[in-house]
Amino acid sequence: MGDISEKVESAIKLLRKEGLRITEQRKAILNVLAHADTPLSAEENHVNLTTEQCDLVTVYRCLEQFVKKGIVEMGVRENGTKVYWLGHGDGTGHHHHLTCRKCGRAERVDLCVGSELEKIAHGYGYTKITHVMEAFGLCPICR
Ligand SMILES: [Zn+2]
Ligand SMILES: [Zn+2]
Repeated sequence: MGDISEKVESAIKLLRKEGLRITEQRKAILNVLAHADTPLSAEENHVNLTTEQCDLVTVYRCLEQFVKKGIVEMGVRENGTKVYWLGHGDGTGHHHHLTCRKCGRAERVDLCVGSELEKIAHGYGYTKITHVMEAFGLCPICR
């Protein structure tokens, strides 16, 4: 439990640092992400919210803001659904996932091709490179 509240605390610190107001809605969304052991879609985040005051549109908007500020990282499922998990804001702890396409269980993957990708992108004259990289398979239980 201590680990989860620490995650929420550091995310809230980042909000403050990035000049975003600490609202109950934002706190609630970050709290849901901190409790999840797999990346969550906006809908799944919304379902897990205990506050009634946060509609789905607000959840979407907050998550997009968090991604822009580096507080939350974004990936996609095989069906194209965007999913979110807590980042660290400073790029440390940046990671990806290996997700079971049957049961949705996810493993953390620390391999990242980001820097190589950036070199290639710069070669084409592109700047401000972002990337989404997720892997899928069948876990040992579902295999
Ligand atoms: Zn599975
Ligand atoms: Zn990466």
